[in-house]
Amino acid sequence: MFYDCIVVGSGNAGSCAALSAKENGCQKVLLVDKCSPDWVGGNGYFTAGAFRTVHDGLDDLLPIVQNVTPEQANRIDLDPYSREDFIEDIMRLGGRRSDPSLAASVVDGSRDTIDWLAGHQVPFILSFHRQAFEVGGRQKFWGGLVLSVEGGGKGLITAEHLALAKAEVDIWFDCPVVSLLMRNSTVTGVVVRRDGSELSIQSRAVILAAGGFEANSELRIAHLGMGWEKAKVRGTPFNTGDCFAIAQGVGAKTIGDWASCHSTTWDFNAPDIGDRDLTNQFTKSGYPLGIMLNANGERFVDEGEDYRNYTYARFGKAILLQPEGFAFQVWDSKMIGLLRKEEYGDEIVEKVFAGTIEGLAQKLSKIGLVDQVRFIETVQVYNAAVTQHKLENPNWHWDPAVKDCLSTHSTHLSELSPSKSHWAESIDKPPFMAVKVCCGITFTFGGLAIDPVSAAVLSESGPIPGLFCAGEMVGGLFYNNYPGGSGLSAGAVFGRKAGVSASKCQGL
Ligand SMILES: Cc1cc2nc3c(=O)[nH]c(=O)nc-3n(C[C@H](O)[C@H](O)[C@H](O)COP(=O)(O)OP(=O)(O)OC[C@H]3O[C@@H](n4cnc5c(N)ncnc54)[C@H](O)[C@@H]3O)c2cc1C
Repeated sequence: MFYDCIVVGSGNAGSCAALSAKENGCQKVLLVDKCSPDWVGGNGYFTAGAFRTVHDGLDDLLPIVQNVTPEQANRIDLDPYSREDFIEDIMRLGGRRSDPSLAASVVDGSRDTIDWLAGHQVPFILSFHRQAFEVGGRQKFWGGLVLSVEGGGKGLITAEHLALAKAEVDIWFDCPVVSLLMRNSTVTGVVVRRDGSELSIQSRAVILAAGGFEANSELRIAHLGMGWEKAKVRGTPFNTGDCFAIAQGVGAKTIGDWASCHSTTWDFNAPDIGDRDLTNQFTKSGYPLGIMLNANGERFVDEGEDYRNYTYARFGKAILLQPEGFAFQVWDSKMIGLLRKEEYGDEIVEKVFAGTIEGLAQKLSKIGLVDQVRFIETVQVYNAAVTQHKLENPNWHWDPAVKDCLSTHSTHLSELSPSKSHWAESIDKPPFMAVKVCCGITFTFGGLAIDPVSAAVLSESGPIPGLFCAGEMVGGLFYNNYPGGSGLSAGAVFGRKAGVSASKCQGL
């Protein structure tokens, strides 16, 4: 059996790779996934469909989005997001450890890839509900991330798989890749398990897009450390890291931050693996509007350190490290109405309400709060710091769409530790509300070394002929943290490049 190109993984990166291979000249393309058809799309299916891209502002994006009327367009504030902005966000959040050539490759390919996806009927929209606040009658976008897909990840994967069907890409489910075929140091195909037996399939090129190891608790413990077995998996249970060992078996070099991952504030009551209906709705990203306290009633992060898009990917870990690995998010009535409905709707999450902070503490003690006195004290001390800051800065105004500098820093009171640097409002107007959150792991950062132009997998001595990689499997791009919406963009950019490169492979 022979294919021009075999792609491993039916998520966003694999779908883009297969489409790109086909349209760049590969006649026969096969996409294999070890999941059953009802788990199609890997983690891509579970996403909010948020894509981070370089753009020149509203006029640049209006032609590709489907949800903005001319009247609405007049009431939108959306700043351009430059090449320098995007690169700086990756480098800054990665502690300057990200490979600059990988980052540049993603950033430089991002805008064109959005057009390419739109050309494949991916229904892009402006992300009003997730990435903008209404301020003074205008929709103000914040945090460098403005695009998403109608229907989120479900809409993205549906569109990509319609395009794959149209392009006549063959797709085999229930078909794990178990090894790579090699001849004369060149990858010449894959071995899959199908219907209970192993089958060798020859090809000129193989593109690995099989996700990270986030769904493998043994590898989580081995690389991320003890305690990570408790994290809930936000997406597919099939990303167990098998293809890293398979690639290493043919000499692939690993690189990047194997000791870290993307993990978020996640509903404590969510299932242990992703839920195909509620998908991303278990995310609980309303903390910049309030505060988070652990079981001992203590705050442990600066909830207003930066826009949510720049902190959420490491706050899951911060929660995992707390006693018993959970926390409470707390707001008062001033903020409750601003929380995203899809994450905090009545049918989504268990909410605890009370008319006083003391009453709230008492109710939370029934679901894990150990120290009620400390909890009450923490809220009081926080409120005092907020009030003092306001007294010292009477002309500053709360604005969730900019870094408003409303904080707990004051010259008169001793500094809170941790402080809250932006959006610090007192929590004093009943009713009060809390939800219980834990750590949800999204994907892992360590991966394979690739060439940033061709997406070829690298060995210690250079590219491995016939082998390419895209998506979560790529290492060296993200370290410790991540700018929201970069995963889909990186997967699409490198998937596209891998497809182009695969089409140039001559085989043996
Ligand atoms: C809840 C959630 C929300 C997210 N929201 C966003 C967002 O809005 N924007 C964003 O940019 N990123 C988001 N992400 C991250 C994003 O999902 C990933 O960066 C991206 O989808 C990874 O794509 P991928 O194609 O590399 O992997 P995946 O989409 O996970 O696909 C990997 C596929 O490989 C298959 N596979 C694994 N091993 C094998 C094997 N041995 N043989 C065959 N197949 C195999 C798996 O079954 C899986 O289907 C989110 C993630 C989650 C979980």
